[in-house]
This record gives sequence, C-alpha cells and structure tokens, in this order.
Amino acid sequence: MPDPHVPAAGPRSPAAGRPDPGLPLDPGVLLDLDREHVWHPYGPMPSRQQPLVVASASGVRLRLAAPAEGRDELVDGMSSWWSAIHGYRHPTLDEAARAQLDRMSHVMFGGLTHEPAVRLAARLVEITPEPLRHVFLADSGSVSVEVAVKMCLQYWRSLGRPGKHRLLTWRGGYHGDTWQPMSVCDPEGGMHELWSGVLPRQVFADAPPPGFDAPPDAGYARRLRDLIGEHAHELAAVIVEPVVQGAGGMTFHSPEYLRVLREACDEHDVLLVFDEIATGFGRTGELFATGHAGVSPDVMCVGKALTGGYLTMAAALCTSRVAEGISRGEVPVLAHGPTFMGNPLAAAVACASIDLLLGQDWALEVKRIESGLREGLAEAARLPGVRDVRVLGAIGVVQLDHPVDMAAATRAAVRSGVWLRPFRDLVYTMPPYVTGDEDVARICAAVTEAAAQG
Ligand SMILES: *Cc1c(COP(=O)(O)O)cnc(C)c1O
Repeated sequence: MPDPHVPAAGPRSPAAGRPDPGLPLDPGVLLDLDREHVWHPYGPMPSRQQPLVVASASGVRLRLAAPAEGRDELVDGMSSWWSAIHGYRHPTLDEAARAQLDRMSHVMFGGLTHEPAVRLAARLVEITPEPLRHVFLADSGSVSVEVAVKMCLQYWRSLGRPGKHRLLTWRGGYHGDTWQPMSVCDPEGGMHELWSGVLPRQVFADAPPPGFDAPPDAGYARRLRDLIGEHAHELAAVIVEPVVQGAGGMTFHSPEYLRVLREACDEHDVLLVFDEIATGFGRTGELFATGHAGVSPDVMCVGKALTGGYLTMAAALCTSRVAEGISRGEVPVLAHGPTFMGNPLAAAVACASIDLLLGQDWALEVKRIESGLREGLAEAARLPGVRDVRVLGAIGVVQLDHPVDMAAATRAAVRSGVWLRPFRDLVYTMPPYVTGDEDVARICAAVTEAAAQG
C-alpha cells in the first residue's frame, strides 16, 4: 500500500493544474498557483493574504488584472519600494533597455568588461561625494551591504589588525535581509529579532533623536562619540542610513549626527559606511542624503532607485584608501564576484535613469511633492490614533499609536484608488517624482483614509 502521506515520485504538476503556456492566466488560476507555490516578501507559506494581480503599469498607475474594491487602476504611492522614481514604462528607460537587449542582456564580468558597466561606474563616481572612487557592482542592496562590510573587515585585516571586525550602528536601522545586513538591523521588534542569538553581535547605539530639523542633542552626540571610542579597538566600521531610517521605522534625524560620526570615526580610526540604498537619487531633497550634512563616508551603498526600478542592481563605492588598503594585504583581492555582476541590461538602464534624473530639475519636482505631501497630510495629524505626521523630500509618513491593521488599511487605500503598503505602526508614501499634483493629493487622501481605518 502506498503511504498516503508520501507524494508519488516523479514530476508533480502544480496543484491548480498546469497553465497553458500559450494563454494568459485567468486571475483566479493565477492566485491559486501563487498561493500554492510562491513566496512573497516577509510572508508565510501558504500566504494568508491575497495579493492584487498587476497586469501592467505605466506612468504612476498600476493596472489590475481584476478589479479590487471597485478599482481596476491604482495610483502608485510606493514607487515599488523607493525604486520607480520615474514611474513605469518611461519611454527613455524602455528605449535604453531595448537598445541594450539588441546588443546583449548579459555577459560574465570576470575577465570581460563592457560599456554599460564602465559608464555607470564612472557616472556614480562623478555624482557621489569625493573621495569615493571605486565601484563594486552588486546584484541587490543586501549584497552591496555584504560587500561594503567585507571591504571594511578586509581593510583592517590587510593592515594587520584583524581584531577590528565588529560593526557599530544605531538602533532603528534597516540594511537588508542577508546575514551581515541582518546583524545591523534594529535588534528589537524588527524583522530579524528571531535571529538575535545567532547573528554576529554588533555594537548598538541608541536610535538618533528624531526630527530632521530638531536641534542636535549634545548629550546624545557625546554618548555616540564615547561609544565609538570605547569600542574602537574592535570596530571595523560604523554603518548607518543617513538622515532617513527607512524600513526600520521611517524616522528622520538631524544631519548633524552624521558629522559627529565622521569626526568620531576619523579620531578613532574606524571606517564609516553610509547606506544610501533608500535615500539615494534625490528622495530626501539632496541627490544623496549625506549631502544634507556635507560629509562623505569611506564606503557608500546605493541601490533601489539606481535603475529607476527596472532591474535589480546595487553598488558599493569606496575610497582609494580602502581599496589600496585591501590590495596591500596578504590576500590582495576582494573575494566577491556575483554571477550577474555588472549586468549590462541593468547598467544601461541605470545610466539612462541617472541621465534622466539629472537632465531635469529633479530637486524642484521633489520639493513640489514635498509641499503636496505637507499640505495633503496635515489633516491626518488630527485623527484619533495618529501619533505623528512627518514629511521630508518626497517621503510622507503617518505614524499611528498602535500597530496598523494592514489588511483594513490596504483596502481603504485601494478604495481610494491608491496603492500603499503600510507596516508596523506606519502608513507612508514615497511617490514617483513624476507624480502630478492631483495624484499627490489623491495619495494623501488615501494615506489619511488608511490611517483612519487601520
Ligand atoms: C532596501 C534596503 C536594503 C536592501 O536592499 P535589497 O535590494 O532589498 O536587498 C538595504 N538597505 C536599505 C537602507 C534599504 O532600504
């Protein structure tokens, strides 16, 4: 008798039946297959929430395969997690992808090089703060943070100080979901609390006092300096998100603390890493958030908006001091080389996206959205259950005094014709820079609605 609990050997067809490759999937079948087989971000398996099916997107609108809450089109309030700064199907980016597709989609980067990657690296060096000079192209933000950390640890190892292998960060941060990045994410209440006994133990300072415009807290700054000094002998680097802590809680802090970090790191011989994966490419009103402080890090990560949200690519940039330090070591190479390193398709679109951004008065667009968000979200501050409303650049945040009911809040936003993805106690938006004033107002109304429902 076959054991009923052991599936029969051999290939299994999907539970919902094998879809006909020639036909578009019926949305119902698609959702069955999705639930049965596909992991979603931070989700259980099988999923407990039904995602919306997007058939296509253009400009700032997502077109749904089947209506939800009576809507078949949603204004995108998320820029696909900070990335789609120019909106969807931008003709310039579509054309860049197509032109590169006609040359080659990919070729390995070991022993070979190509124009899109070289142009992109040179462009990144040009637009990021001096003295960042060398570029490691990675395939996702988390991997670029892994590379940044490896650079820092290897730098000290090469200089004969392998004891400097820990990292210091402040609480409330988020740096990605792979192992090293997880170890510097907020250790409490965050997404990685489960792993607290297993991850490398890093040094945590208190979260920076909130408020972009708040006068810097001298006591906090002193404690930060002291902690860096106290642990300097074992610290490879300090790593933080400059000015905006994103997925760790959507908080803003005074740029002054970045100057404090720069001084303390110089004084105590510790490297400084800025993770600009969320903040880069204009989101906070400066091209890079470190521009608010006028300091430059030794290593900097960029990602998310790098390709305008088209393809996955990130980069870790470093100074000549770091690169030369590594190259003087016993093992003079940086042993990292992702299969898809420097992917030509992603690099070509990234170049086009950067040109598109810098070819317009992007700062004015971000300011325009900032005023729209300030005006449109003001009323949310008076809602019961709302703790704080804050806006910086093209980022608007409504913080509740309780965990958001994600399903109810999402439904409320969709009813208002807007796509939002609330989490923890936050309903927030970072719209594409091409979002028109009416759509910004609509997003604000939806955020307010979602905050009231959630
Ligand atoms: C999203 C994010 C990452 C991780 O990037 P992935 O591309 O998702 O791996 C790292 N740091 C910050 C600040 C981010 O916002």
